Amino acid sequence: MGKNASGQYFILWDDNKLIVPNPDLEVENAKDNPEQEVDNDKKNKSEYDSFQRNEIWDNHKKSRLIDSLIRGIPIPPLYLTEEGNNYIVIDGQQRINAIVKFMDDELKLSGEDIDDGLKNKKYNNIKGNPKFSSLLLKATIPVIIIRTDDLELKYEIFARLNTGGMHINTQEIRNCIFHGSYNNLINELAYKNSNFSKLIAPLNPKRMKYSELILRFFAFQRLGPYPEDYVHPMKKFLDKEMKEHQNLDESDLKEKKENFENTVNFIGDVFGETIFKKFNIGTHRDYNGKYDYKICTGLFDVVMCGISRYVDKEEDKNAILKCKDIIREELLYLITADKDFINSIGDHNYEKLKVKTRFDKFFNSLSNIIKLPDTSFSLEIKKNFYKKDKKCYICDKEINKIDDTIIVNSDKNIIDVYWREGEKIPISAHLSHRYCYYNKNNILNKNSENNI
Ligand SMILES: [Zn+2]
Repeated sequence: MGKNASGQYFILWDDNKLIVPNPDLEVENAKDNPEQEVDNDKKNKSEYDSFQRNEIWDNHKKSRLIDSLIRGIPIPPLYLTEEGNNYIVIDGQQRINAIVKFMDDELKLSGEDIDDGLKNKKYNNIKGNPKFSSLLLKATIPVIIIRTDDLELKYEIFARLNTGGMHINTQEIRNCIFHGSYNNLINELAYKNSNFSKLIAPLNPKRMKYSELILRFFAFQRLGPYPEDYVHPMKKFLDKEMKEHQNLDESDLKEKKENFENTVNFIGDVFGETIFKKFNIGTHRDYNGKYDYKICTGLFDVVMCGISRYVDKEEDKNAILKCKDIIREELLYLITADKDFINSIGDHNYEKLKVKTRFDKFFNSLSNIIKLPDTSFSLEIKKNFYKKDKKCYICDKEINKIDDTIIVNSDKNIIDVYWREGEKIPISAHLSHRYCYYNKNNILNKNSENNI
């Protein structure tokens, strides 16, 4: 463990991190006026804003901290770790955040237990009050510096030093430990693309969840189509990716940024907002199926990595555009009728075998579909059947969604991989609920027998 130092601190925003330049030095040269430091920070306002996204404390918690500083109530130390010439905050981001916000005049103090004289006050309101402002400016915050290169130990320290009362998640820890150009890129991409946020909705943007998904995409993409080198568990796999590429050079950053943006824009335009969601077929109570509310990370992995290989050149994009409806139809079949695939994208989808299965299956499908000479299947065919008759040919009840339909012949059997060979579909064909057809033919049970 490091040593305990107390005194005024000096803060700068850099690389989206709160970095404390040599606190040892600062103890000796402690400035008397934190306001001045906050003014310096404004130069880096955009980084400050980015940091703000991870604000966890509510107004009352922030107010209580300021109240404590003014009333001389001791507050827990800030824990820092050394990274090169900088110091990264392990524990204390919320406290520093609260102080900066208050000094920036963006925090109005509130809460039952704070000093009456401070209630509903901003910094500007108390600045002229010598009682409050001088106490605040004299307030000290203890600092403890931890020196270790052991990554696991750092994780452990982050996880245990949790005095903010919130559990810090793995991506938040990575964001601190592996700061650098790669981390900056990931965080930048996470919040700048509206197509991306639409595609992964309703995932909560807080707590770096968007960043973790992007990291996951880049990490799998690096392994190529059949990720033999995936190393379980996912946490270590993602750590390794960030550690080994912490400081990407300009050309790598540019390439990654463009490919990511091309991929999400293309997927958004061509496949739309259900593409990362599982489809649950109906049940014996209600034959109609529906999409999951949340996205499925296993589907995200394969669709993002698969499509990202075809988005940087016009001719590749056109190749996908030509067979987009076939890809969609095949994917719907995989996620509803192929038990191995369903299992591979289910909960805990980061086991090695599951990762391999879903990549193998989706990439094989994709490369076969792209090679198809004739692309006569299109969603239009289904839509025309649906327009003619919305009723299920098997149960005779109305079908709610076009994605819930499967094309069957007059004997109520599915027409063999019709989405690959559209010419097989006769005009006299019909639509059925997926549930009705799968149930009638015992599809999901048959599937599992094959797998044993
Ligand atoms: Zn039906």
